[in-house]
Amino acid sequence: MQAEEIATNEERKTKTRLNKLQKRLRREVGQAIEAYNMIEDGDKVMVCLSGGKDSYAMLDILLNLQRSAPISFELVAVNLDQKQPGFPEHILPEYLEALGVPHHIVERDTYSIVKEVVPEGKTTCGLCSRLRRGTLYGFADEIGANKIALGHHRDDILETFFLNMFYGGKLKAMPPKLVSDDGKNMVIRPLAFAREKDIAEYAELKTFPIIPCNLCGSQENLQRQVIKEMLQSWDRQHPGRIETMFRSLQHVVPSHLADTELFDFKRLALGFAHGIDPSLGESRLSEPQAIDILSL
Ligand code: SF4
Repeated sequence: MQAEEIATNEERKTKTRLNKLQKRLRREVGQAIEAYNMIEDGDKVMVCLSGGKDSYAMLDILLNLQRSAPISFELVAVNLDQKQPGFPEHILPEYLEALGVPHHIVERDTYSIVKEVVPEGKTTCGLCSRLRRGTLYGFADEIGANKIALGHHRDDILETFFLNMFYGGKLKAMPPKLVSDDGKNMVIRPLAFAREKDIAEYAELKTFPIIPCNLCGSQENLQRQVIKEMLQSWDRQHPGRIETMFRSLQHVVPSHLADTELFDFKRLALGFAHGIDPSLGESRLSEPQAIDILSL
């Protein structure tokens, strides 16, 4: 086969793969938006762009959906330049200008604050993220954005779930949609149903100009790294487990856990199907499933 022919075949394969991934991501983002009513007609969505693969993919897919959506909403890309040494300031403005997307670059030297406050050798990501969040939430108010889109995906959500369970003693993940603590901002995670490996491949094929997050020299939280590796090894050994685990976050059965604040076990009484008074909080298991599981 001629070199030219081989190159054309490769290009064709890449294009097919890219189309397939884009369709999948579009579908998953569309489903997440629909399931949690993330975006409504007239919304102004501030899309937080860090320069990492996830936020590039989020913006790309949201722009794509915006073109064909039956509702009208605005997208504004916002990057926070945290003044980490070596941060290539020109990359995002150039990328966004070429795309023709309305955008803002917010400059705030959180790097110096973090360096001043966190003792040498300790991980800085916690404080850095809190400062970033605070600044971005404030900026959303300034520009009148009523939704803030963050690029966390399904793997981030599951990692957070296991981190909270293993190290925090709580069944708590990262919600696809939430109101900030001060009640002023609505945060959405349109990539909630998307897999990290799909996003990574999409970002590579789209050749997004990635800016690494660790320019500051900080290490990723070690515990998160351990959980990530655990999930990746399960995924290799048991394909489909990640999907099943994520589904479990969408099908919580309070009456079959042990949280007395979530389910009133004290008032549980005989005389109702499966011993559950619907007024106390109905089990979501249908009757046959409940019997199957109970008889295991
Ligand atoms: S790696 Fe550096 S820039 Fe990224 S979150 Fe951590 S401290 Fe912040």
